[in-house]
Amino acid sequence: MPSLHKSGGILSVNNSSTKYNKRKGKITMTQDKISNKSRQNSYITAIILQLHELKAKENKLVFRRDLKSPKLLEENKPKRYDDIAMPKIFKRNADPCTIVGCKWFKSGEHVYIPYYIDTNYSPEERHQILAVLQRFNKSTCIRFVPFKLKNSDYLYFYTRPNEGCWSYIGRQGGGQFISLERNKCLRTSTVSHEVLHALGFNHEQVRIDRDEYIRVLFQNIKPEQRFNFWKVRTNNMGSPYDYNSVMHYKKYAFSKNGQPTIAARSHQIHSFGNSYGMSNTDIDRVNKLYNCRKN
Ligand SMILES: [Zn+2]
Repeated sequence: MPSLHKSGGILSVNNSSTKYNKRKGKITMTQDKISNKSRQNSYITAIILQLHELKAKENKLVFRRDLKSPKLLEENKPKRYDDIAMPKIFKRNADPCTIVGCKWFKSGEHVYIPYYIDTNYSPEERHQILAVLQRFNKSTCIRFVPFKLKNSDYLYFYTRPNEGCWSYIGRQGGGQFISLERNKCLRTSTVSHEVLHALGFNHEQVRIDRDEYIRVLFQNIKPEQRFNFWKVRTNNMGSPYDYNSVMHYKKYAFSKNGQPTIAARSHQIHSFGNSYGMSNTDIDRVNKLYNCRKN
């Protein structure tokens, strides 16, 4: 385990494992690409966070709020609806972003959102996550920046066996998890999908006006999964229904009998829910929700 000590007033890191050190350096470099912040600071921050996590695990303690870390899932598992984690105070069909607001804060023209990526990911997996964050940085006024200890609200990309892929909708206050299980949730479409949830977006096919565009074939849906198709009072911001949204379910989602569970009302539409990443409409919506300035 790495150790921290003060040297001439500056924190420095000792580590007997060259391999570990080398790997960390590589990761830090990748993270710095997105922010151009100090490599050394990112490295030290990563180590400090890791130490906090190890200590909390050893003691089986919930992370302390003053350590600016999320609560351990083992202690405080959120209730989940498919891939959406829901705070206890909300009812299922009340979109928290519509009811109380859940946007991340804007500073000047940009919305700075700190992120921390679990050290359990491989460099390639970290790169996958960072590539998606970079797309947001380039096409919207969202600016994902590496986590610093002074940050109060931030995203924590997290992987644990059998946790699957999920996210909260919108900013929760404090650190919040986005679960992207290794070898399962690192596709561009999945990472984009979960990040869009965290920015405040719900699934496309639960839009309040969805019945004008699709038919939900409840008779083909597994009974215990039908709630995933209930309509939600979403704020669509005047944007069109988008079959190509990365937030749209696939045609056979939660089918109990191999038959489609969603059918488009338009005969022109044959495929949906197969997006490889954010559609133009997904990007437009981020820009609308956060009042990004048009370039
Ligand atoms: Zn989802």
